[in-house]
Amino acid sequence: MTTCIGYAAHEAHGTLSPMTFERRALRADDVAIDIAYCGVCHSDAHQCHDDWNNTVFPCVPGHEIIGHVTAVGSAVSRFKVGDQVAVGCLVDSCQSCACCADHQEQLCAGITATYNGKDRLTQAITFGGYSQHLVVREQFVLRVPAALDPSRAAPLLCAGVTVWNPMRKFAVGQGTRVAVVGLGGLGHMGVKFAAALGAEVTVITTSPSKADDARALGARHVLLSSDPQAMQAAASSFDFILDTIPTRHNLNPYLMLLGRDGVLTLVGAIEPLEPIHGGLLMRNNRSIAGSIIGGIQATQEMLEFCAEHQVLADCEMIAMQDINSAFARMQANDVKYRFVIDMASLKGQ
Ligand code: NAP
Ligand code: ZN
Repeated sequence: MTTCIGYAAHEAHGTLSPMTFERRALRADDVAIDIAYCGVCHSDAHQCHDDWNNTVFPCVPGHEIIGHVTAVGSAVSRFKVGDQVAVGCLVDSCQSCACCADHQEQLCAGITATYNGKDRLTQAITFGGYSQHLVVREQFVLRVPAALDPSRAAPLLCAGVTVWNPMRKFAVGQGTRVAVVGLGGLGHMGVKFAAALGAEVTVITTSPSKADDARALGARHVLLSSDPQAMQAAASSFDFILDTIPTRHNLNPYLMLLGRDGVLTLVGAIEPLEPIHGGLLMRNNRSIAGSIIGGIQATQEMLEFCAEHQVLADCEMIAMQDINSAFARMQANDVKYRFVIDMASLKGQ
């Protein structure tokens, strides 16, 4: 076992503070990783605030992890000491069900989440990337292509794959009319991916001040959700809508925007939504879909795509010690567009 320092939430409405804990000794198929950067996902704040009523305290969040390998178990064949690697939201799964066989580990009933999960063998609660180092089963470690700037790559591991996966599933590409609702961590990656895939992108935002950024990120159009006339004028004009709004909201104004056979994919709010108008869903044969992160193979493919097309997150680098103000700013919609923790700030502690 190796002693590790991380930042933990100790109660639902408290702040995060330093905590010392042990990382497990390497199993034969484990990789030990020294963490360089960890992205700050809105889910980290939801989990620390116990918004989903399932948080086990203390909770060390963080599932957008970039680092390098410091040791490998005896059976590890794909990684060696010094390799630049990444870890996302998953650190284990059963590896034997139909979902795992289909490279959809995120849907496996036996997954171990990177934090607030249960270790497959010991049932110990997992601690995530707001920490100096971690130990992960080889199958859940990703390669970071050399062409990716590691300081801007961490958010790809959750925000990136979460928006990449439904875009691939629904064949977003040349000529697809895409709308991204909410220009935050997920949303800004959604705009970049959709544009890189050749789609015509519109950002639907509550923040007029983000219009210039939206265009700079690759959007052709910007729609203010608070402007009913502009929303009405855009009725039936999208093939695919990615909804990243993090809280309960009304889908009907967005459903109305879908054209024939259009799909709205929900990736944000994990809670009951306001009632959906059946007529709006039937008109144009519209669909609502949900999507949760992505499998390991898809995550690796996304990283390769990002290296080839230089798709990277727009990051504001923070020290670990700044995490409480970063959470507050994220919840006040004041981040452009992802906080990333520089773990050098935890070294020497
Ligand atoms: P974020 O950076 O805070 O971005 C959310 C954006 O949504 C904000 O920038 C804002 O954009 C808009 N927004 C915020 N509150 C709103 C409201 N009340 N009404 C309308 N729009 C609002 O969050 P994130 O990290 O992108 O995460 C978004 C959500 O996805 C979170 O709930 C997170 O837990 C969830 N998530 C899901 C998955 C998954 O696998 N499905 C993975 C990761 C995260 P504008 O200023 O442009 O309006
Ligand atoms: Zn996340």
